[in-house]
Amino acid sequence: MLGVLILKIDVDKDKCTACGECKDICPKGQKIWTINKIAHADNLQYCHVCTICASRCPEGAITMIRNASQ
Ligand code: SF4
Ligand code: SF4
Repeated sequence: MLGVLILKIDVDKDKCTACGECKDICPKGQKIWTINKIAHADNLQYCHVCTICASRCPEGAITMIRNASQ
């Protein structure tokens, strides 16, 4: 499963405006993304590693941290 390649999806709290674009655009947005004061990604076993969230974030706040050794 591709999801094991992702260690973490980091959201820069100083950049995130909680616009919700990442959750809206993510194919598994309802399972993965929580938008409170900032966005938070959880349940990464559902993540396809499509990187759409990171590329579509208008603030460039999302960093995908991979661990290719796993
Ligand atoms: S798209 Fe970017 S700025 Fe908008 S909620 Fe997600 S992480 Fe925050
Ligand atoms: S990489 Fe794709 S599946 Fe994973 S959180 Fe981002 S948009 Fe969703």
